[in-house]
Amino acid sequence: MMQRHRFSPPEPPFPSPKHAWDATPPLEQQARRYFLPPGRPKAESPHGEQRRHVVASVGAFFLQACSCAAGLLAAEVSSASAAGSASTTSGTNLPPSRASWLPGMPRERHETAMHEAIVMARRNPRYPFGAVITDRDSGEILARGVNDGGTNPILHGEIDCLNRYVAEHGNRDWDRRILYTTGEPCPMCMSALAWAGIAGVVYASSIATLRAAGIPQIMIGAAEVAAAANFYHGELLGGILAEHTDPMFLRRPGSTP
Ligand SMILES: [Zn+2]
Repeated sequence: MMQRHRFSPPEPPFPSPKHAWDATPPLEQQARRYFLPPGRPKAESPHGEQRRHVVASVGAFFLQACSCAAGLLAAEVSSASAAGSASTTSGTNLPPSRASWLPGMPRERHETAMHEAIVMARRNPRYPFGAVITDRDSGEILARGVNDGGTNPILHGEIDCLNRYVAEHGNRDWDRRILYTTGEPCPMCMSALAWAGIAGVVYASSIATLRAAGIPQIMIGAAEVAAAANFYHGELLGGILAEHTDPMFLRRPGSTP
């Protein structure tokens, strides 16, 4: 015997006031509270509910517009306050992060330093990752490094260069330093550079080219890592002398182009 309907609860009267209210969009509920008198009028005209719905809809639209405006204002204030704190509380003399001072520097300065990084890279023909750290103002080379992953897996060119810089100059003055590297820093190296707070990072070949050269890559760009570090305000510049470094990677010994 089919008894499955026997104990079914009775259907509620439809639409019950509670269900009708629940089905009303939240913003319209709010608009009704703000723009309509409470309760139902005693003498309801045939189109009373329809008129109330129109008033509530227009009110809801008005509330949504106010909410959007407030959201935009809050975002503006928050971004202005973040920019302010970056320039006033970092305690460094870094140029303002949105000033793009790095690409504005003389191109020869970048190329001279990158040539030095390439000289270092040639020491490891199989993995030609070389790096130098320079003084932002004078261009003087303060440290050099080269990939030595055969000795230690984290000794990428940038890490080697950072280590040598710290050994010689101490863990200081990062806000006046630029690192040049033949290959776009991997997430490990870019994270280390962000933690150091280095002012600028300039690279030659992109991660995409390194991958095309058959070198294993974690496919997260240096700019993406830098942007994810909310404490880091340094600048990045890519492609400097890539016309020299791309062939170096793509035609390295043992590669199969
Ligand atoms: Zn790396």
